[in-house]
Amino acid sequence: MIEEKRYLQPRSIAETIAMADAQQSDFRFIAGGTDLMVNKFQENENSSCLIDLFGVEELKEMTSDESFLYIGALTTLDELKKHPLIVQQFKVLIEAAEAVATPVIRKTATLGGNILCENRCIFYNQSKWWRDAVGNCLKCEGNICIATGSKKHCYSEFVSDTAIALISMDAMIEFVDHNGSHKIALHKIFSGDGVHPVNLNKSSLIKSIILPLNQNFKSVFYKLRLRESMDFTSLTTVVTKNKEGKWNIVLGGVDPKPVLIHGNKESDHAEWIQQALKNSRAIDNEVFSRKYRRKMIQVYLKRSFDIIEKTQY
Ligand SMILES: Cc1cc2nc3c(=O)[nH]c(=O)nc-3n(C[C@H](O)[C@H](O)[C@H](O)COP(=O)(O)OP(=O)(O)OC[C@H]3O[C@@H](n4cnc5c(N)ncnc54)[C@H](O)[C@@H]3O)c2cc1C
Ligand code: SF4
Repeated sequence: MIEEKRYLQPRSIAETIAMADAQQSDFRFIAGGTDLMVNKFQENENSSCLIDLFGVEELKEMTSDESFLYIGALTTLDELKKHPLIVQQFKVLIEAAEAVATPVIRKTATLGGNILCENRCIFYNQSKWWRDAVGNCLKCEGNICIATGSKKHCYSEFVSDTAIALISMDAMIEFVDHNGSHKIALHKIFSGDGVHPVNLNKSSLIKSIILPLNQNFKSVFYKLRLRESMDFTSLTTVVTKNKEGKWNIVLGGVDPKPVLIHGNKESDHAEWIQQALKNSRAIDNEVFSRKYRRKMIQVYLKRSFDIIEKTQY
């Protein structure tokens, strides 16, 4: 029997949620499709229904009030640098977005899709033929992690660059499901489990990303990758300090979830580096070795602290 494939095109958030609920989990939302479609071609993603968000205008809005900026989840990575408030107050978000993929991809790729970009691993992001030959791992219905031999834990890496920048600026998200609308700190949606990296229900729709205004963030962004022109991260670090002297240190590419460390004026920089190393569960599952990436955590963080200390508000 030929399996029926469906492609749905809702026009409002309410219609999107109703369609999602009717699919009984056998669906995926598709925004720019630049991550999802690659996973579909490699048969890492096999839902028979796609719900295309492109026609939902409410997801494209960018608004602000006295305290917050609300960025619609469907805003493309390329559009971020055109918004005056983002240019003035959240420049590290633009740096992070500009470090994602290539200019052409950034014209299609959305902020919501980037936050939920699937975790990666050199043993997982391969064609089905490759995986069938080598053996399927925990993340694709096998029973062992090829990288570590574990029968329980998957340490696929969290790779979204914009999420790291957003968390460093205390971002929240607003998501909608059949119970209504909810707000939550962005870092709380990530589980730390490489097989299921996001805590949200499959039918939860990200409506907007919310950033607090007038924080006067000083920030430094670094990304380690094989090719500067186009590559997923092997280590992303963002360090920010706000006007109250609160430091946020956020790391990507070295754990199944973003690694977040808070500091204050009195804290010790060397201690933050030790905490970052302790909390990063990097394994040998990508192009740079675990050992090298851990060395680079120390290099990037030390440089970031020095630059921030020397920068005037
Ligand atoms: C060559 C290449 C290089 C790349 N390099 C990088 C890189 O350096 N860094 C990086 O971070 N990414 C990279 N990517 C991955 C991808 O391009 C980006 O992560 C992109 O931002 C994904 O956005 P999208 O709109 O295309 O998401 P999609 O592919 O449409 O969706 C991604 C996921 O998000 C879900 N989703 C999307 N929008 C919503 C929403 N509003 N609510 C709920 N769920 C939603 C989808 O269901 C899916 O699970 C690269 C991709 C390619 C092909
Ligand atoms: S870390 Fe292990 S289980 Fe997870 S994707 Fe890689 S090989 Fe598979």
